[in-house]
Amino acid sequence: MCINSEKEIDFLKKFLREYNGPQIKLMEVCGTHTAEISHCGISDMLSPRISLVSGPGCPVCVTVTSYIDKLISLSDDRTNIIVSFGDMLHVTGKNMNLKDVKVEGANVLMVYSPMDMIKLAIQNPTKNYIFAAVGFETTTAAYAMAIDEIINSNINNIKFLTSLKTMPAAIDWVCKNQNGIDGFLAPGHVSVVTGYQIYIPIAKKYQLPFAVAGFSGEQLIQGIASLVLNKGKAKITNLYRSVVTEKGNEAAQALTLKYFEPCDASWRGFGEIERSGMKLRHEYEKFDAGSSNLYLDESHNPKCCCAKVLTGELNPNQCPLFGRDCTPQNQQGACMVSREGTCYNYFINRRK
Ligand code: SF4
Repeated sequence: MCINSEKEIDFLKKFLREYNGPQIKLMEVCGTHTAEISHCGISDMLSPRISLVSGPGCPVCVTVTSYIDKLISLSDDRTNIIVSFGDMLHVTGKNMNLKDVKVEGANVLMVYSPMDMIKLAIQNPTKNYIFAAVGFETTTAAYAMAIDEIINSNINNIKFLTSLKTMPAAIDWVCKNQNGIDGFLAPGHVSVVTGYQIYIPIAKKYQLPFAVAGFSGEQLIQGIASLVLNKGKAKITNLYRSVVTEKGNEAAQALTLKYFEPCDASWRGFGEIERSGMKLRHEYEKFDAGSSNLYLDESHNPKCCCAKVLTGELNPNQCPLFGRDCTPQNQQGACMVSREGTCYNYFINRRK
């Protein structure tokens, strides 16, 4: 199904609004999809018989508390410069976040890409740079590219604290533990790198449809309609054909596997999932800033329901803190911090 005209999109909207079949529960597993669905008010366009829940698509949100605390402890050494994407600075570990320790004098730097850090590390060879490397398959490929550059340029003052995740194992966990998910809007960015091949075994195993969609409201509407129409079928629909193929970006996959290998990983809300992460290969361990044994998964606020929001068990407005004690100005959990976080997007756009 590939529909482009306004008239055809209107037809699908009407179909989704007037749907009167069996109750259907769909999950999006991409933070950018979560943001766009909220921004476009797509949940409000659907029949009450179709519910849309968010899954573990926000990399900052699924990162465990102990990882933040490890970054904070590394920042105690003032010869270290902790480098991170912006969202991670605001996520609180057991008691503090990176923004707090920066105020106290730690060296914490925000960048937009690991390549920005490489330039700084070349200019300041006496400083140690530690990159907070979180993310899914897409970002892992970018870290692999950065390591390639670091090795080729013979740079010796950069390490990575990794908490890298892979999507299929988390989706499989949801299928096993969250009875009632009838289909998945597959993550768009991840699919560009991995190809849609990674969803085929899960679709077959659980007889569930997947739709790979881009980030426009129209593509998301088409994706949701295809999931409703294919309920109960192991069907993969690729609507994002301009950039997603079955096999994905094989060069990026090869570069990732040159430096990283699969490992078990801890996820906020899920606990440890077998072979759901990537770690530096033994021969590249010199780039590791101490990423093993990061498993503690506690929120600093015991009433926080982020774990249940991330697994699709609760919607944000079912958390007792949502909207009163926890807002984008006063975040109590990771899902309210990131622009891709489910709670943040529900709050900003009043998603139902
Ligand atoms: Fe966590 Fe806040 Fe969301 Fe509750 S509202 S689940 S505390 S982020």
